[in-house]
Amino acid sequence: MEVETIMADYLVRAIGAGGNVRAFAAVTTALTEEARRRHDTWPVATAALGRALTGTALLAATLKDPNESLTLRVAGDGPLRGILCDADEQGHVRGYVTEPHVDLEPAARGKLNVGAAVGTGMLYVTRQLALQGIYTGSSELVSGEIAEDLAYYLTRSEQTPSAVGLGVRVGPDGAVVAAGGYMVQLLPATPDADRDRLEENLGRLGSVSLAVEQGMTPEEILSVVLTGIDYQILERRDLSFRCRCSRERALGAIALLDETELSGLVEEGRGAELTCHFCNAVYRFSPEEVLQVQRGMKDKQ
Ligand code: ZN
Repeated sequence: MEVETIMADYLVRAIGAGGNVRAFAAVTTALTEEARRRHDTWPVATAALGRALTGTALLAATLKDPNESLTLRVAGDGPLRGILCDADEQGHVRGYVTEPHVDLEPAARGKLNVGAAVGTGMLYVTRQLALQGIYTGSSELVSGEIAEDLAYYLTRSEQTPSAVGLGVRVGPDGAVVAAGGYMVQLLPATPDADRDRLEENLGRLGSVSLAVEQGMTPEEILSVVLTGIDYQILERRDLSFRCRCSRERALGAIALLDETELSGLVEEGRGAELTCHFCNAVYRFSPEEVLQVQRGMKDKQ
């Protein structure tokens, strides 16, 4: 019997054309499926979230310090009511859509209508860097299709002309069949001949989700994107859906409630329950545990 195994997610980072071209490619099928399963997203929400998670992972590929992180917020007025993702330097990615149960008529050629689900609004990228501190940039959403929005953001807000491709294929049962993406950035000194070649190569690659579905690795995606351009792969980084939440942190959040709220929880004998937005993990605390938090607060006073 043949056992089908999903390839582990990872990205590769490359430099080409004498340092003028930076290129990244990622396969994110497993982490997108993990996000779908955790948040119970319906297909158009799965596609939007998967694209945003993949874009976040690609943007975070330039982080260098273990304490650095990057947040992508897609603040659209469509039925998904916004997407929030973040990633760290170790390739841990997490994220959610505000409304996971969205169902829309498909766009042309049966494609999931991500643009309509996201709507119009703004895109925000926040980098938390070890030395430079926190920096947030923003731009308007141009189509809500995420990849185009990111390319526009990078080109306009960060003055780095970029091409971005992001794709998620959802199967008939709603599970993620393939997901991945690429990002190519050009420095001002990039020769015109290389620009033209890149554009031609991207056209030849076509749909990145189809490429992943056909079994292409991040290295193979880059070999198509950078055909005819001298390049070298600098790094390979594993990617996974992983949240930083914990029972301890959830308890810390409960300690932020005021005393009357805490007393209420204890007196009603309900205890407390806290759900992490990013990964949907639920933390439950007994009335006794809440009482302990309350006592701890009194001790500090
Ligand atoms: Zn979490």
